[in-house]
Amino acid sequence: MPSVDDVTIIGGGPVGLFGLYHAHLRQLNARLIDSLPELGGQVMALYPEKAIFDVGGFPKVTGRELVELLAEQSIKENATVCLGEKVTDLVREGEHWRLSTSQGTYLTRAVVIAAGLGAFNPRKLGIPGEAELSGRGVQYFVRTLQALYGKRVLVVGGGDSAIDWANTLIPHAEVRVVHNLPKWQAHEEAVRRLYQSGIPIGQPWELREIQGGDRVEAAVIGPVGSDRSETVAVDEILICIGFSTDLGPIKGWGLPIRAGQIQVDWGMKTPLDGVFAAGDVATYPGKTKLIALGFGEVGMAIDSAVHYLFPEQRITTKHSSDRGF
Ligand SMILES: Cc1cc2nc3c(=O)[nH]c(=O)nc-3n(C[C@H](O)[C@H](O)[C@H](O)COP(=O)(O)OP(=O)(O)OC[C@H]3O[C@@H](n4cnc5c(N)ncnc54)[C@H](O)[C@@H]3O)c2cc1C
Repeated sequence: MPSVDDVTIIGGGPVGLFGLYHAHLRQLNARLIDSLPELGGQVMALYPEKAIFDVGGFPKVTGRELVELLAEQSIKENATVCLGEKVTDLVREGEHWRLSTSQGTYLTRAVVIAAGLGAFNPRKLGIPGEAELSGRGVQYFVRTLQALYGKRVLVVGGGDSAIDWANTLIPHAEVRVVHNLPKWQAHEEAVRRLYQSGIPIGQPWELREIQGGDRVEAAVIGPVGSDRSETVAVDEILICIGFSTDLGPIKGWGLPIRAGQIQVDWGMKTPLDGVFAAGDVATYPGKTKLIALGFGEVGMAIDSAVHYLFPEQRITTKHSSDRGF
């Protein structure tokens, strides 16, 4: 029979990663599985270069730095990390759970679901040239800010993400913004800073076509509702018009799910034996979706898993400072 892990964590965002740390603290064999090719969940996929100010102990830390530090803190011996594997099925088999992924199957005694918002996909414009030049100048997430330095960047969108990226890039790149609605959806102060910068802003303007060969070369933009259009030379187009999320297969596992979140009790338990949830995917009265809160929740989820796995053991507080890790 294949080996059975003590606990499997579904999701390698900040919460799932910190769950690995707690599993180590409680001396459990743990496996973490994420469908994305890299760790960090929303933080790495959506805002790796943005500064985060509300994680205790870090006055200011970028998303990337936080994830790197979490990985250093959490991935120890007794932990296995499987990336690029989507968990598709969760089936009870006697005393354990069988997890099927896009790559294979794993047996585990307990499961912590830290799947965040589920798999997320950026919204697209569906205009000529967009699909063809995606990844070759057209991007939906900023992977490395420095890669855009010195470039002509067109930012598309009027929400927080679009305006934050435009403001962050303005000192380093030749930035232009188009937004197709008459109102901005971003924070007022951020919009004020955008206008103060003096960069070209089209509102309500739309991006109509992306032109190029091997890479993006130009963008055709124009005022909404008018035939007038301009072709502007650009190197990079950053499309920030939101993303859609989907829990996908998790919805079929018999869990109580409301508005994309799994309902849990005070110990982060779901009604399924040995299955717990933490982070953005979990909900209870008063829930907020924050990294710091998810860190506490996943500690509770792992403690509940220990109690489930070893009911005879009394679960006492473990101080990491006493244990030296
Ligand atoms: C623009 C932006 C700014 C933010 N700023 C802050 C901030 O300043 N402070 C703060 O506290 N919070 C902030 N947040 C919220 C914060 O990012 C989330 O609360 C946090 O990422 C939740 O972590 P998580 O691990 O629960 O989920 P996620 O980060 O969403 O990670 C979940 C992971 O699960 C994986 N997954 C999902 N389904 C499966 C499956 N079936 N199989 C395998 N893997 C799966 C996904 O690929 C993903 O990697 C911000 C969010 C956004 C979008």
